[in-house]
Amino acid sequence: MTMAEGHEVDVVVLGSGAAGLTGALRAALLGDAAVVLEKSGVWGGSAAMSAGAVWVPNNSKMGEVGIADSDEDAWAYLEAVTEGKVPAQDRRAFLDGANRMVEILERDTGVRFDPVREYPDYDGFAPGAKAGGRPLEPLPFDGNLLGEDFATLHPCYPGELIFDRFMMRIAEARALMQPGVKPKLGLLAGLGRYALRSRSRRRWHGRDPYLTLGQALTARLRAELKARDVPVRLNTTVQRLLTANGRVVGVELATGETIRARKGVLVATGGFERNNDMRKRYQPLPVDAGWSVGHEGNTGDGLALAEQVGAVLDTAMMHNCWWSPAVLPPGQPTAWVLVIEKSLPFSFFVDRAGRRFVNEASNYNNIGQSMYKAQAKTGKAIPAWMIFDAKYRKKFPIGPVKPGMLQPDRRVPEPLRPGGGWLHKADTLAALATEIGVPASNLAATVERFNGFAKQGEDPDFHRGETLNDLHYSDPVVTPNPSLGPIDTAPFYAVEVFPGDLGTKAGLRTDTNARVLDVDGVAIAGLYAAGNVTSSVMGGSYPGAGGTLAPAMTFAFLAVEAMSVDVDAVVE
Ligand SMILES: Cc1cc2nc3c(=O)[nH]c(=O)nc-3n(C[C@H](O)[C@H](O)[C@H](O)COP(=O)(O)OP(=O)(O)OC[C@H]3O[C@@H](n4cnc5c(N)ncnc54)[C@H](O)[C@@H]3O)c2cc1C
Repeated sequence: MTMAEGHEVDVVVLGSGAAGLTGALRAALLGDAAVVLEKSGVWGGSAAMSAGAVWVPNNSKMGEVGIADSDEDAWAYLEAVTEGKVPAQDRRAFLDGANRMVEILERDTGVRFDPVREYPDYDGFAPGAKAGGRPLEPLPFDGNLLGEDFATLHPCYPGELIFDRFMMRIAEARALMQPGVKPKLGLLAGLGRYALRSRSRRRWHGRDPYLTLGQALTARLRAELKARDVPVRLNTTVQRLLTANGRVVGVELATGETIRARKGVLVATGGFERNNDMRKRYQPLPVDAGWSVGHEGNTGDGLALAEQVGAVLDTAMMHNCWWSPAVLPPGQPTAWVLVIEKSLPFSFFVDRAGRRFVNEASNYNNIGQSMYKAQAKTGKAIPAWMIFDAKYRKKFPIGPVKPGMLQPDRRVPEPLRPGGGWLHKADTLAALATEIGVPASNLAATVERFNGFAKQGEDPDFHRGETLNDLHYSDPVVTPNPSLGPIDTAPFYAVEVFPGDLGTKAGLRTDTNARVLDVDGVAIAGLYAAGNVTSSVMGGSYPGAGGTLAPAMTFAFLAVEAMSVDVDAVVE
């Protein structure tokens, strides 16, 4: 088929994650015809697996939860955490654009957010940090409203399912970790609602249509696209960007079909976290695509497509990821990130020499970065070990293994059970050290020192438990510091920890309107990009919960708005 015979729209969007769905919706709101092309057989990308938090500093909803913010504080915080590595105009575009995006989505569509009051910024020492309210959470959504398209929404990340069955909101899930009966009432309500949905679950072969977190975010965006007749084509791979007169004018699919874009092409194909060759070429070693929990379709396609038309990769940024410590439980569909576990008392991380190397309760991105720093120094931090005692095991989960009070060791499925090679267990610390090949004297000394810190409630080595973020996932009944509990009760456990990630965050260089830049820093006409296919406005930082979805959605929004302006400028 020739191009003239192909399909024609205003905006072609590659990828159906956070950036892609938001960009397509902005196009529809502007009256533009758009199509979303998704390579895989399911839509939603990593965004559908995410916790759905969208970090918008100084958002208009913070007042509702009694937290004051200001543009000055937002600016100071972003400036501090990005360490001068991100151009000021890009940070400005994000801060202004994110607020405008939320306001327009809420005003003109059914996308709705609540501020999460108790979700502190991830760097509590930075100026302008807030105790909460900047992360916005999508309101729950009934998947039935999507009709048959619910069946092809990418499933949520398995760790987001309570009792492997149903979802809860961010604050409700965190409340389950709090002491007392009241915080658990949400669980009863959740169970009750779940029981009432048995008929609709049958329709979806057991999948529960009550959606929260990233499932609710992507489902809401998709529902709004459906209402405006914007198609999302699954199993559709773009093999080439089409150009004419120095401008990107459309795409060619693997089938040979062409789709012409009157205004522009938005590349929103996610990162390259699942491309092992690229990981090893651009990132610190050791690294492995299997340590990522990012979407399996995120293999860096958008980078290659854009390079073919003159885009250059931002090599100075390519080593970055949205890091998180992760475990690799056997028999599971994915790695598991230790977002909660890493911070809980009666546990710590050590390298293979038995020495701590990081504040385990600091944000997960910092832990990944610290693992690589320690590895460069000692060669012994990847993989590291998470060590914990019987008190931890009883109360808290570790990856897919539920707390011992719900799932004692004998009821843990075979490959995950102690003795299966993944979860190690011993009656003494010395025996545990021998089992995992760590010098026993070092481990004993580290435990002794850490237990002393736990007693005094301070960690002078790594400052664990000093910020609100450190205490976000902790145990309030543990005193004097809820993040620091001694490792002193047998049996003792260990599990290997890897620098996993939620996705890569670098590649195409873009301007404040998400136009893709060439080697000279000049915008390639007709080509725009947003999300993890681009070099992040957050630099190497992870500022707070939602720090990846917010820029992905914002720059997709700005890209599509710019398309109309840019194309008009050409016509004039
Ligand atoms: C478990 C988990 C929890 C997370 N929680 C949060 C959170 O609460 N807040 C937050 O901010 N971030 C979170 N993240 C990270 C966040 O989900 C991602 O950073 C974000 O989704 C990136 O958006 P994106 O649009 O760039 O890519 P994605 O959402 O990953 O979407 C990319 C899509 O492009 C498709 N694609 C790839 N190649 C092609 C091609 N050639 N043609 C067409 N389509 C293609 C992919 O199949 C995929 O569907 C989380 C991630 C995970 C895995």
